[in-house]
Amino acid sequence: MKPKETMLNTLPNKMRIENFLEIDEIGNDHISSADETPMKKGAFLLSEEEKIKKIEIYFKEIMETLGLDLSDDSLSGTPHRVAKMYVKEIFNGLDPANKPSVKLFANKYQYKQMLVERDITFYSNCEHHFVPFFGKAHVAYISNGKVIGLSKLNRIVNYYAKRPQVQERLTMQIAKELKDALNTEDVAVVIEAKHLCVSSRGIKDDSSSTISSFYGGKFSEEQKKSEFLNYLNLNSNY
Ligand SMILES: [Zn+2]
Repeated sequence: MKPKETMLNTLPNKMRIENFLEIDEIGNDHISSADETPMKKGAFLLSEEEKIKKIEIYFKEIMETLGLDLSDDSLSGTPHRVAKMYVKEIFNGLDPANKPSVKLFANKYQYKQMLVERDITFYSNCEHHFVPFFGKAHVAYISNGKVIGLSKLNRIVNYYAKRPQVQERLTMQIAKELKDALNTEDVAVVIEAKHLCVSSRGIKDDSSSTISSFYGGKFSEEQKKSEFLNYLNLNSNY
């Protein structure tokens, strides 16, 4: 069965929009591309330290171009601070070396129901504007004989969040990782996020949030899907 993907935006008046075209009006061209993060060849030829040095130079240039005086105490350390934060923190999920290793355990309890990990907090950055989007991810799977350590689910979400991202791709990347790691199609992912590029600039809509979802395998069945959504207190229009 084809996995169902949906994307919608909750508007202040609770009106729900259920297709990608209309998201465009709200989200400033936030339309997803392929589910792989586009990376150039040789993306990892430079060491982290070399990347930090390079970004520091360019960021200083951006600040100076904006007219800021970098001899000021408060600003002088910013280029280095930003470069280090990009490479070591908020974008360190670009490097496959930082991918969490996933250890599986035998499903000793013969637990055959869905396992839901809800409200996983994540912070990511929109790749179109380089400002944060953040929220909660809810993931679920039905064991195919193996189970995964619960904290790994959080780690997988956070690894893919720490990239320049679009919410749709983040959803798909988490789902794909869970499918590969657990060797099953029976996974579901729902992400609710607030995008600062929508609320703090552009259309300045402070109350909308964006919901994206993936339902694979048994989760495409209405009954499993609504069981999952019931745990999340969301209605099955998602
Ligand atoms: Zn954006």
